[in-house]
Amino acid sequence: MHAAGAQALYVHVPFCRSKCAYCDFSSWATRADDPLVAAYAASVGRMLAQAEAAGLLEGCRTGYLGGGTPTLMGSAVGGLLARMAPHCPRELSCEANPDSLDDATLAAIASSGATRVSVGVQSTSDAELAALGRIHTSAQATSALRRAVAAGLDVSCDLMCAIPRQGEKSWRRSLDDVLAAGVGHVSVYPLQIEEGTAFGRRYAVGDPAFNSEDVQAARMAQAEHALAAAGLHRYEVASYARPGKSCAHNRAYWTGVPYLGLGTGASGMLAAEGYAHLRAVAPQLPPAPEDAARVRLTVTSGRRQVAAASGLAGLDFDLEFLTEPQAAAEDLMLGMRLTEGVAEGLLAHARSVLGAGRVDGALAEAAAEGLAHATPAGGLAPTERGWLLGNELFGLMWGLAPGTVASASARATGA
Ligand code: SF4
Repeated sequence: MHAAGAQALYVHVPFCRSKCAYCDFSSWATRADDPLVAAYAASVGRMLAQAEAAGLLEGCRTGYLGGGTPTLMGSAVGGLLARMAPHCPRELSCEANPDSLDDATLAAIASSGATRVSVGVQSTSDAELAALGRIHTSAQATSALRRAVAAGLDVSCDLMCAIPRQGEKSWRRSLDDVLAAGVGHVSVYPLQIEEGTAFGRRYAVGDPAFNSEDVQAARMAQAEHALAAAGLHRYEVASYARPGKSCAHNRAYWTGVPYLGLGTGASGMLAAEGYAHLRAVAPQLPPAPEDAARVRLTVTSGRRQVAAASGLAGLDFDLEFLTEPQAAAEDLMLGMRLTEGVAEGLLAHARSVLGAGRVDGALAEAAAEGLAHATPAGGLAPTERGWLLGNELFGLMWGLAPGTVASASARATGA
């Protein structure tokens, strides 16, 4: 394995058929035959070739083609997945929406080397889907899941709770419907009402009752109960899987594994040595400070700039440089998303770089507030209360990070 490279690869496709009412992701409503979509995919392919040539993907194991709606590309999505597949021997996921996961697109995904699809279902109530501004129907959603299972792919779906028009019964029905379709993985999210979205404007005044903290907690508990009864174990705050079906790629994000993100709005994280390799093909990136152990990168170029770029030198980035102690605090924070928490070895490392007194003080505070507990193997794991009060638990761990994280922006040097 190439010690300096990425072990996971994310590619972002920022196009959707229409914009959902709650969405603040990096995505734009676009016609499937817009030449910009093909130009964007070709440009990302060139960037992948550069990353390969720089040795950045030699140790890569997993990949994720996300969006946006990658299946908006139709069967052409298979070409992009096939480009990623040689670097993703363990797992390669493709995000899909039910309205565009037709048989030809599904066949292209299944024959590309992809192993998994993640379908944006959100609900199986047509009234709730309409309220969210989703353009697919319940029948399309369950058909997409069944056909993907039949195609031999590992199938995940996203469901959303605490949404308009949802009640306890209809939420239960959504959970039952996706389970009946045979999925092995479900991600469950409470609706977040974000500024700058249609929902942000519609619900700007007052907290709508359907989205209250109590409703969110009740729906998440209902999901845990229904999914556990069906054999799907909660392995992360929002993720449930049958044995062996957890998402290896997403686990990379929560366990400090370096990953490369390509495309508009994509995030990446590289160790300092990997960042130096990336700079060889993206000279607009500034040198990392001497004490940087980890670099977080976000592509800030819009879709047109990405499509027009001749390579990685044509991208704009925002950057954060974390020191070793800051990276250790971040690992503790991210580990609190996982049911298993953080292992004894990670705690020992955190004690050595952050100071045993400070780390043990934070652990004691987390335990006293019922947010986390010590594991029999000497690690630390979150409690249900810790997840419900996630900001407190995550804040407590991140609060161990000393100093301020250094940041920078980099602007493209070439078209
Ligand atoms: S399909 Fe997904 S990315 Fe596209 S607008 Fe809807 S929520 Fe956003």
